[in-house]
Amino acid sequence: MKPPPLPAAMRHPSTPALSGHAADVYDDAIVVDAHNDLPSRMLDEGYDADVRHQPGYGKMYGESDLPRFVESGITAQFLAAYVNATYARAKPDQSWTRVEAYMDTIHAFVNRHPDSLIFATTSADIRRAKKEHKVAIFIGVEGGHAIENSLDKLRQLYAQGARYMTLTWNNGNDWAGSSIGVDGTRTGGLTDFGKDVVREMNRLGMLVDVSHVSDSTFFDVIATTEDPVIASHSSARALGRHPRDMTDDMLRAVGQRGGVVNVNFFALFLDPRFAAAYDSVRAAARADADAAAREPGADTAAIRARYDSVVEAGTRALPRPPLSMLLDHIDHVARVAGVDHVGLGSDFDGVDGMLPADMLDVTYLPNIAQGLLDRGYSDADVTKILGGNMLRVVEMVLDRKPSAAP
Ligand SMILES: [Zn+2]
Repeated sequence: MKPPPLPAAMRHPSTPALSGHAADVYDDAIVVDAHNDLPSRMLDEGYDADVRHQPGYGKMYGESDLPRFVESGITAQFLAAYVNATYARAKPDQSWTRVEAYMDTIHAFVNRHPDSLIFATTSADIRRAKKEHKVAIFIGVEGGHAIENSLDKLRQLYAQGARYMTLTWNNGNDWAGSSIGVDGTRTGGLTDFGKDVVREMNRLGMLVDVSHVSDSTFFDVIATTEDPVIASHSSARALGRHPRDMTDDMLRAVGQRGGVVNVNFFALFLDPRFAAAYDSVRAAARADADAAAREPGADTAAIRARYDSVVEAGTRALPRPPLSMLLDHIDHVARVAGVDHVGLGSDFDGVDGMLPADMLDVTYLPNIAQGLLDRGYSDADVTKILGGNMLRVVEMVLDRKPSAAP
């Protein structure tokens, strides 16, 4: 006879208001988070992902690590191999060297923890993780400049276990446009080579990730791809009003293609009022730094550190958006793209602590199950949103073996 389940508060200590029913739905579900930037913090900040941290603002704090992945009950986590725009400027080979450092970092993290983690490339890996109470770790490449205009390098990343790639980051590249276009980089559509990249990803069975791309690149992808596409971490522009968010036409197009929009939890993309307040914090810190720079004998490094600490203190003072605002985005995508086409793309450890209340780190994920059930979503639909939809796309695209090269 099966023992009765523990009360919800004992199973999920970060979310004490969780009902027993919400805890049961969450614990039975395959829970997938399509985007987390923990590897960046491991590489750049010396963040020790093997030990537990507290959520909060600043380098001492964080939203995920091994103990909290395990406690959260998440089934599958895509970790980002993220290449900053600065590496694209530092040609040649800097972007490639950088993405390779990420591949090593993520593989080493999984290899250190065989009792808790499984390196994953297929749906079978997700199901095995669920059965063995482990976490399936996938790799997603963030920033198409990583492949340095080479289909061979794309194939090497696939061979090393990467299973999605955002075609751009905030910088556009030689073949795809970005929604931001930092440093005056490309914001237009896909070039012919960009279409070849999409087709090669289709051939390999690697997910094309449209998070970060410009609207015109997005629609060029939709016209080119034969597979469903994902947005690994994008919210709804109708609510967030940020260019990184997706318009209703884009949401519908992902749905019609059978893909999934994984909603980003970043407060700047969810809440225009938070974004405006954050802009004011940064403007005040900039004015303060400019004044300091005019002092005789100004120390550039000290001014930079002071700017960072003023921004951090100002950000900490901003009221977090309520969890309901994140649920509003999920609800919007479910209504516009369809309930079969929405998922979770937290962007944890890539958002400088700027997250909704009651969603402070990975152990708060069960609050999404509770919030959706409270809004009248069925158990089955909550299960799809938590990860069932991503599992379907993994089955459709990643489980396929690469087809023969043309
Ligand atoms: Zn991103």
